[in-house]
Amino acid sequence: MSVLGLKVIVIGGGIGGMAAARALALRGASVTLLEQAEAITEVGAGLQVSPNGFAVLDALGLGDELAAGSVRADAISLRDYRRGEVLRLNLGRLANRHYYFTHRADLIGLLARGARDAGVRIRLLQRVERVEPGDRPRVHTANGATLEADLVIGADGLHSRLRPELNGADKPRFTGQVAWRAIVPNHAGRPAEAWVHMAPGRHLVSYPLRGGSALNLVAVQERKDWTEEGWNHQDDPDNLRAVFDDFGPEAQDMLARVEEVHLWGLFRHPVARTWQRGHCALLGDAAHPTLPFLAQGASMALEDAWALADELAATDGIDAGLAAYQARREARARKVINAATGNAWKYHLRSAPVRFAAHAALKLGGTLAPSAMLHQFDWLYDHDETARP
Ligand SMILES: Cc1cc2nc3c(=O)[nH]c(=O)nc-3n(C[C@H](O)[C@H](O)[C@H](O)COP(=O)(O)OP(=O)(O)OC[C@H]3O[C@@H](n4cnc5c(N)ncnc54)[C@H](O)[C@@H]3O)c2cc1C
Repeated sequence: MSVLGLKVIVIGGGIGGMAAARALALRGASVTLLEQAEAITEVGAGLQVSPNGFAVLDALGLGDELAAGSVRADAISLRDYRRGEVLRLNLGRLANRHYYFTHRADLIGLLARGARDAGVRIRLLQRVERVEPGDRPRVHTANGATLEADLVIGADGLHSRLRPELNGADKPRFTGQVAWRAIVPNHAGRPAEAWVHMAPGRHLVSYPLRGGSALNLVAVQERKDWTEEGWNHQDDPDNLRAVFDDFGPEAQDMLARVEEVHLWGLFRHPVARTWQRGHCALLGDAAHPTLPFLAQGASMALEDAWALADELAATDGIDAGLAAYQARREARARKVINAATGNAWKYHLRSAPVRFAAHAALKLGGTLAPSAMLHQFDWLYDHDETARP
């Protein structure tokens, strides 16, 4: 089926929504994107774009610009919280070197320009209240408007309005983990490496952004009392420093520079069972929110966006196209989410002998078989969603 002239409404101007809007508009669809915010801005935070996410940006014609505005990653260094490096994964050995540290606002700005250039109409201050699936699905906004289209895409993130319409209410579970995020100046001239400092019940991820002028920090702690889900709860930097005060000087040096910090609770949501019905489809976090331990949420949203446009263009009829989209994406999304969920405990080993043995095994594995350690992620990073299956 050609999507030429297909009238599409995309709900949500995040990474997945913007990418889907551009992908469909480039194929000739008439796309309107509804975003609840008053401006296309993003929270100040870093984001890792791995080669599988980059492949989609590149196919959308945005790869060069993304690369120019980001730091290309040279290595990932797993470090004991006091003793320093345990294992170094040299990304220079990857066949595909397109692994980047970028700023969320830069990526969303790039995608928004890309969407507009392709003819997408971006409408701000349009909070969607309800969606009615059907042959001509309808979208009701908080402003009291009702809009109709041939196809509605719910790219409205964690608190999607379309997801419960297709799946019923979701029951998120607190994971027993909270995370802080902050950006600090990169005084120490840190190289283009992501460092993961691992400690009992906690870990701290840091990597450089924007030409190396800043460092992005994400600090995770296991604890019983939960914090509200969502990214914008401000916290006192001293609370963060107190939780990580037994970390060594490398971490202390970064934490001392934190002036503003946000805290959020990490929740597990089931992957949606129904991604599409009645000419409506979910993508990105709206379909399958993921924990941040594999840094894949944005890349998964990009892969979804490409697959959705590709299947609609290649399949006869909207229903068949949407069914093919879910069939193409669901197993991979589940695999990635399970891998991300499994990563937290590996970083947080509590018992000192177990942690010591695990770190020794990591070190040995990294020395004897560095390439095997790195290539365990081939299934994830080498995946190119833009190469039609
Ligand atoms: C701290 C942190 C670090 C992360 N690091 C990484 C990383 O390194 N790499 C990576 O790949 N992923 C990472 N992720 C995950 C990634 O950011 C998300 O998975 C990704 O942003 C999902 O994109 P999305 O487009 O599906 O949803 P979102 O980016 O959440 O976008 C949803 C959009 O919909 C809008 N919206 C919501 N409801 C409505 C409504 N009712 N009406 C209209 N508009 C609406 C919102 O305003 C928003 O603009 C991280 C996440 C966090 C929290």
